[in-house]
Amino acid sequence: MKRPWGWGLLGGALLVMVVVSLTLPRGNANEMTLTDFAASVRGGQVQSANITFQNGTALISGQLQDAQPYRTRTLVSDPLIELGSLQARGVTVAYAAPSRLSVFGVLSVLLTLALIVGLVILLMRSRQNPGTDAAGAFGKSKAAVIAEGQIKLNFTDVAGCDEAKQDLQEVVDFLRQPEKYHQLGARIPHGVLLVGPPGSGKTLLAKAVAGEAKVPYFSISGSDFVEMFVGVGAARVRDLFEQARKSAPCIVFIDEIDAVGRKRGVSMQGGNDEREQTLNQLLVEMDGFSSGQEVIILAATNRPDVLDAALLRPGRFDRQVVVDAPDVRGREHILRIHARKKPLDVSVDLGVIARRTAGMVGADLENLLNEAALQAARQGRNRITGRDVDEARDRVLMGPERRSLVVREADRKVTAYHEVGHALAAQLLPHADKAHKLTIVPRGRSLGSALYTPEDRMHHTTTALLDRICVALAGHAAEQVATGQVTTGAANDFQQATGIARRMVTEWGMSEVGQLALAQESSAYLGYGPQQGVYSDHTAQQIDHELGRILNGQFERAVQLLTEHVHVLHRLTDELMARESLSGEDVQTVLAGGSLPALELPGASPVAADDPAAAGGLKPGPA
Ligand code: ADP
Ligand code: MG
Ligand code: ZN
Repeated sequence: MKRPWGWGLLGGALLVMVVVSLTLPRGNANEMTLTDFAASVRGGQVQSANITFQNGTALISGQLQDAQPYRTRTLVSDPLIELGSLQARGVTVAYAAPSRLSVFGVLSVLLTLALIVGLVILLMRSRQNPGTDAAGAFGKSKAAVIAEGQIKLNFTDVAGCDEAKQDLQEVVDFLRQPEKYHQLGARIPHGVLLVGPPGSGKTLLAKAVAGEAKVPYFSISGSDFVEMFVGVGAARVRDLFEQARKSAPCIVFIDEIDAVGRKRGVSMQGGNDEREQTLNQLLVEMDGFSSGQEVIILAATNRPDVLDAALLRPGRFDRQVVVDAPDVRGREHILRIHARKKPLDVSVDLGVIARRTAGMVGADLENLLNEAALQAARQGRNRITGRDVDEARDRVLMGPERRSLVVREADRKVTAYHEVGHALAAQLLPHADKAHKLTIVPRGRSLGSALYTPEDRMHHTTTALLDRICVALAGHAAEQVATGQVTTGAANDFQQATGIARRMVTEWGMSEVGQLALAQESSAYLGYGPQQGVYSDHTAQQIDHELGRILNGQFERAVQLLTEHVHVLHRLTDELMARESLSGEDVQTVLAGGSLPALELPGASPVAADDPAAAGGLKPGPA
């Protein structure tokens, strides 16, 4: 808001003008020198004289014989102004008491005060953030509000995260027709956490939900809550939710929630109190919704791991929606969206660009097209050509940030074998959790991942546990079966497999060591640290022996399984290389000998292998 400053300046200028005009000496024209005055008195030209004594001077004013006013001053001790000598010249003399509080003096003091007070207020305002109206209104929430119907975005403006859109469709439905859900007594999650790498479209998606549902949208960033003054953040939260409740149904979007939602009591810095209070207030507000209030809180973060557990409890952010980096199809879609308003030459093939930009997220792709448009404009062309895009891509990739994410072709291939190994083993083993998605889109420090749908089980049978170990080792096994050698990328898998095996032996009595509770309760439960021996060396040897037997056995089993299905392994890997991600059904289809729907990528050319930008990059092994 610029207004307070404008008014302040205007007021200040007026004050200065008034003060200056008051300070200017008045009646200058009638000022007489003492010599002239003495001469006038001697000449009998002075009619009257009013004398005021002030700090050792005598101020004299009065009228001359021709009725002209005059004023002058002299020393108190001046014999000229003695009553006798003046009266002798026919001057009417009056003595006046000095007026201490002249109107002028009072005014100038008042005005100076007003000026100072005004300046202080101005200063205080300028130190506050815009949007707060008075010195006392620190607590007003800083949320940006977009009224319903004002958001033109909808789900068609977001691409490459279809699963996330599906998950959020429910929220949209609920906001549109809450009665349907209330009738059934359904409790809709109040808090949905959008999790994903920066630039993957979380903020965009939140807005699109509001656009789809046609409800008001309050958005605020987590860092806006965290202020210098204790209590301000909490007051902001209270204020925000009060406003939101008034405009329900609506959406409250808290961007970068990790700024407030970090685990409590772990930070080294001071100023923790403020953050904790803010977080506590947020929790209180989230619990305070009655079931009839359709306020849905979306929050975004790329660090779900640092969030306080209390935030993730049921009734709060108990729903997580993953907004991942897009795969090749997603990237093509995103490029289409952002190419809508850009004139493209026929030489631009978005499908090919999509293939060559593995690892880029939506924000990168938007930036890529923008760079291309700038490039074209610089060259004075009115259409964007394929060359422009290529050059823009190089420029974007050479930039320091994404370097590590562009993966060499050979690495992609090994990663693909590895992930397919996991998924295929999971599919083939009757008691293993099936993979529902596998991908070689790099994320974080891993080059790929396989996600499983765990079945809810209270008890695990020995067979099921062995199957799980086998699946965990199958990534490593697939590398060996397909390429004859293995990489360093399976460290996590080994940890997981060893963890299960160790607990089988030491906690669950599932080995030849026998039915002994051998692990120490706490460390076994937390799953870390070497379990300190509460058993004899002989037992320790036995345990190690059993572990080796289980792990090696399951690795051999995985190798055998994958060797039997090596054709499927190759076919799935090729598909994964082309599509970058596969669903559980895709795996089933290929395993059953079927083929996947054709991937529409016209003019597909080989992906840039050995890209110079990637050569210096960080290359962690497949996970
Ligand atoms: P995040 O909040 O996840 O960091 P943003 O939503 O702020 O990312 O994305 C920044 C910009 O990148 C968006 O405004 C949009 O133009 C573009 N963008 C990102 N992801 C997508 C996507 N999935 N589809 C379309 N555009 C996207
Ligand atoms: Mg964002
Ligand atoms: Zn693995």
